[in-house]
Amino acid sequence: MSERRQEMDWTSPEIVSWGREHFDMVPVNGVWAPEGLGFVFMRVEDKTYELVRCVQHPETMRALAGVRSLLWDLGYKIKDSNVKWDETPRTQDDVNRISQEHLDDVVSSWRCSCGFPLREMDHSRVSAVMLSEEETLLENGDTHMVEVWAYPVTCQCGEVINVDPMDFRSMVGDERHHRHIVKGVEYQALTREEIITALDNDDYDAQDYTPVGKMIDDERVPPWLWGLFCKKVIVPDEEE
Ligand SMILES: [Zn+2]
Repeated sequence: MSERRQEMDWTSPEIVSWGREHFDMVPVNGVWAPEGLGFVFMRVEDKTYELVRCVQHPETMRALAGVRSLLWDLGYKIKDSNVKWDETPRTQDDVNRISQEHLDDVVSSWRCSCGFPLREMDHSRVSAVMLSEEETLLENGDTHMVEVWAYPVTCQCGEVINVDPMDFRSMVGDERHHRHIVKGVEYQALTREEIITALDNDDYDAQDYTPVGKMIDDERVPPWLWGLFCKKVIVPDEEE
């Protein structure tokens, strides 16, 4: 068996038809950063992609060559005169740091149709809401209900943007993603470490904490909070 990792074939019909659809869906000024491949492209014009960041690594370079030819074949021009090169990662910490920086680039590119960055909107009081519930068919023939959730974030122009929960998490971090507000009470899920610290504290008051199920006060709880142990905080009324 070869020791080389299976490389992606950027000329296969599946990838080409995926690319045709995907590269057309990215908004102008939007970013494409395939996870784990080590580079970030921005769509700077309708038919032009610019390589903005890239890790200096042979595997990254091979993947990049594939992407270049794919973009070219699909009729896009490629700009690469202003690339920020990331040094070859030597440790897992390096890999994590670079991935985080690339993710930050992606998140910074999310904008309202008015141009205002999603990241700078006020999402301190935003709670996830369930948009719909869809029945999906499992491979064994059973059906399964899937809840579709989003964080409705309001832009300064008044437009409400339903942010996908995973995108919201990328934007605000784990702790904020694990917070939910119901009828003026904030439920903040705790990590195991935080639960231990809270329980061992002399000031521990059981009234301030609760495990969370699928419902709180007749309201649905987002699935990623089910079964977690939360701290309860009364949310002060918004000051005018
Ligand atoms: Zn806006």
